[in-house]
Amino acid sequence: MSVGDDARIVVSTATIALQEQLLKKDIPFLEEILGIGYRAELAKGKGNYLCLLRYREELQSRGLFPEDDLVDRLREWVDHTKTGDRAELPFEPGESWGMVCADDTCPGRKCQLNNDCFFVKARKRLQRAGIIVCNHALFFIRS
Ligand code: SF4
Repeated sequence: MSVGDDARIVVSTATIALQEQLLKKDIPFLEEILGIGYRAELAKGKGNYLCLLRYREELQSRGLFPEDDLVDRLREWVDHTKTGDRAELPFEPGESWGMVCADDTCPGRKCQLNNDCFFVKARKRLQRAGIIVCNHALFFIRS
């Protein structure tokens, strides 16, 4: 396979540590010695991404977060994050995350926030990727 082919390489691992090693060390090393840019991306389940629609609905209902501090911290992050990826949160949101993350209720293209959606953007990055790194569970779900 050569760069420019539509085919993608999918690398499935058992642990996050291995995924990080691939993305931060092994693939950049290969790119450097081969002089090729692979555009590697990490595939994650939708529950890792903030759903803007559910987040806004929860903010309006104000029923989710009993602590105002948590509301403020999440709001500030939402205003600045480019990925909406839970892993980039500067704090642990706990179980409340399950109320605002992307899930199976997502109406897809019918969602009014589809153009700004973090999960949709992540999937588009995967479509452009030359190498996709994921865990075994995600690999078998999508195979
Ligand atoms: S497209 Fe789906 S995941 Fe994205 S904001 Fe809309 S409902 Fe949420």
